[in-house]
Amino acid sequence: MDILDRIEQAMMAEERREKTAHFPSECTACIRQVWYKWQGNAASDPIEPASLWRMGIGNAIHSILPEYMKAAGFAVEEEKSILFEHPRLTKPISGRMDIIFKENGSWEVLEVKSTYGRGIRSIRESGAPRQEHYDQLVMYIHMGDFKRGHILYLGRDDAYRTMFHFGKSEETAHRFNNLLNRFAMIEHYLKEEKVPPREFTATIRDGEIVPKFQHNRQEYKGEWQCNYCRHAKHCWANVLAQMGKFMGEERIA
Ligand code: SF4
Repeated sequence: MDILDRIEQAMMAEERREKTAHFPSECTACIRQVWYKWQGNAASDPIEPASLWRMGIGNAIHSILPEYMKAAGFAVEEEKSILFEHPRLTKPISGRMDIIFKENGSWEVLEVKSTYGRGIRSIRESGAPRQEHYDQLVMYIHMGDFKRGHILYLGRDDAYRTMFHFGKSEETAHRFNNLLNRFAMIEHYLKEEKVPPREFTATIRDGEIVPKFQHNRQEYKGEWQCNYCRHAKHCWANVLAQMGKFMGEERIA
């Protein structure tokens, strides 16, 4: 076997590990998508090795930060695992924080997000973190009982960098509670052995999920969550079996 094939097969095997805990990164993901993972369903749209490499490159970029922080005098721990249990959940929440560091005698959590092109441009233009990144940080703030948490965005192509800072507050506690409810909802559907409703909508043309299509001069656009979902073909199988243009289950033409 070719050396590269061997490396990529090992990368793919790592992806297929059995799921035993909720992950903070899934707190705002489509409930049906996460339910598929818990069921152990093989992805109908498996991840491409190129995507795994892209993620690996992102992680490698994150790994340079602790050295810079240490040089700046911070006490730093990286890739710190955290396991959290809650009476409302039967399964634990397991996460790995990018960095925790000491500031004024107490530990704080820092999430690092590296992106490029449109991804980093949208952060620069909006001046705010992406909702799913904020939610992930809220999970860590409350799971680890941190007073403060931070998100650092790094542009891989233009080295643009910006940070957002959040203190533990009533607002984050409320959000954390809502996110726990989402995990509880997934457990409910697992217990009842029922498929959760879809939370997002795909645009489908002649048996294929497409980002968008036009009809009668109107544009129909699916949500990115479905375009990038690894269970999309499974999820939309009933619509993909038909010819025509669909917005979700609704036939447009
Ligand atoms: S295809 Fe869309 S609705 Fe279906 S599981 Fe994936 S994200 Fe959810």
